[in-house]
Amino acid sequence: MGARSFWSRSPVAPAAFRVASGQNLVSKAGGRAYSYGMAERSRAGEKIFHGIPVSGGVCRGKVLVLGKPHEGIERREIGEPEVPQEIQRLEQALVRTRQQIQDIQRKVSTAMGAQNAGIFEAHLLVLEDPTLIDEVSRLISEQRVNVEFAYQTVSEKYAATLGAIDDGYLRERAADLRDVAVRVMGHLLGRADESELNRLQESCIIVSHDLSPSTTALLDKKRVLGFATDIGSKTSHTAIMARSLQIPAVVGLRDLSDRLETGQAVLLDGYNGYVILNPTDQTLFEYGQLVRKHDDLTTRLLTVHDEPAVTLDGTRLVLSANIELASDVEAVKRCGAEGVGLFRTEFLFLNRSTLPTEAEQYEVYRSVAAAVKPQPLVIRTLDLGGDKFLSHLQVPQEINPSLGWRAIRFCLQEIEIFRAQLRAILRASAEGNVKMMYPMISGVDELTQANDLLQLCKDQLRKENVSFDDALEVGAMIEIPSAVLVADALAQRVAFFSIGTNDLIQYSLAVDRLNEKITHLYQPTHPAIVRLIQATVDAARRHGRWVGVCGEMAGEPSLVPLLLGLGVDELSTAVSVVAQVKFLIRRLRMADARELAEFALKCDSGAEILARSKALARQAAPDLFDDESQL
Ligand code: PEP
Ligand code: MG
Repeated sequence: MGARSFWSRSPVAPAAFRVASGQNLVSKAGGRAYSYGMAERSRAGEKIFHGIPVSGGVCRGKVLVLGKPHEGIERREIGEPEVPQEIQRLEQALVRTRQQIQDIQRKVSTAMGAQNAGIFEAHLLVLEDPTLIDEVSRLISEQRVNVEFAYQTVSEKYAATLGAIDDGYLRERAADLRDVAVRVMGHLLGRADESELNRLQESCIIVSHDLSPSTTALLDKKRVLGFATDIGSKTSHTAIMARSLQIPAVVGLRDLSDRLETGQAVLLDGYNGYVILNPTDQTLFEYGQLVRKHDDLTTRLLTVHDEPAVTLDGTRLVLSANIELASDVEAVKRCGAEGVGLFRTEFLFLNRSTLPTEAEQYEVYRSVAAAVKPQPLVIRTLDLGGDKFLSHLQVPQEINPSLGWRAIRFCLQEIEIFRAQLRAILRASAEGNVKMMYPMISGVDELTQANDLLQLCKDQLRKENVSFDDALEVGAMIEIPSAVLVADALAQRVAFFSIGTNDLIQYSLAVDRLNEKITHLYQPTHPAIVRLIQATVDAARRHGRWVGVCGEMAGEPSLVPLLLGLGVDELSTAVSVVAQVKFLIRRLRMADARELAEFALKCDSGAEILARSKALARQAAPDLFDDESQL
């Protein structure tokens, strides 16, 4: 195989799949562009698809293909005798959808209270709207077209009309209508849709065009063995969530959801990015060996569980974990991390029809803080937008969501939402181990505004005699190049920096982190990124601040020597890679890492920087890379 990705590190695929196709996940300079998704090579009866591995693990099971809402719906002329049959199919689909919505409504109401299930009342009203149903029936009987086409055409016409009116309430009805239409179409086409995921009766591997981060967060680990999607990337929040849930996943498989059918047998290899249809006995045997090899490595990594992340020549790093859900905190304790370096609080706001109250947030933050005590918990304030949306907040769709109304920008305009979160975090800080940071800071003004509001919240709480930690450390995430350029000014206003490399790379290299077609341009060791990290560290040092890295780069063993050499104080990674990163740090010498960083700061080639960093990591801990030596 040609150059492997920045990210692939886990056991290599069995021999049969090491094909000479030169697929790169992230480029070397001049690396190949988008080339995933092809069935590469087949053994008798099996078919192999290659994509981007985003969450390690191997699973085997039956496929459940989720439908694409607006695709594959063809207009078909029908004869007069078919009309009653098509109308009957419409009625059946409406009845099934009604049952489905009521089912979900009951579950949400039990889990989160009746007020959160309110959105489904609106869905039921939309579903049973007589004007819409009459028009669909008329189209079927007068124009003699199939029911799928008729329903899709009419519902989309209504949704587009409502969505175009400048009225928040009506725009929300348009969104409801589209949600409902997806369900109805799912029943008509005999395809599952995302809502089916709540009601799985059997274990399965989900295959879908895409999965949203919010849907991924709801996946039932007992039933969902793994998932594979046509689009997606390593640093999307869907991928991050899969790693956090430790569900094997492959993305960027291009048209896999069209090629597979529900019920087919597949094996999914989340280490190397393969989906294998009808795996042969030989393939299953080879994968059995791969899994055993991985299990052996996991056992070996247990030896560092209680040890500190310290280099051979005595440099001590803080190695913490990223979490998305409060329930992840148990895994943090199990993986040997020193607390939580990034709590992505936005997942608390997704999959519900109302905002979490200050009291509810306080209870979540306090319980997580108590669980990781005495180690620190860094709570990141709300980072909505980009690929994470609140369906009920009427946030209009944007052309460039990642450059749009997200994160701190959203919070500084939706002050009441922000205030409730700041108060909740402050109250939780009474536990004594809480720190807080703002996402997407682009310059001093945003930071000052956020800090001013924080100060107001503190004053209020004091007046109310509510306790909090007055010395709460507040940090800024460094994820935008402008923040690096004004880092000296920012450093005077915060206690620490946390570098969000996922976004820093996206914004510096102008590479959409969600777009699998340009994954080869998403280059963590691009010389510009190396220099931006160094500039951030230097600014932090000048002002006596500490600096961490909480983007996915921190959890990539090949890149750990480089980050170490650049002088960061903390790495915060996915729970699943904490042990590997610690194992590696304990085998590295800081002197070598510094030498590497000095080289990198002078080098013009991202590929060369990567190669050197990886060579150092491999030399220090060959166990983590032994599979790659076979390539
Ligand atoms: C980052 O951008 O690196 C980061 C940690 O934040 P997120 O991935 O949630 O955007
Ligand atoms: Mg970010």
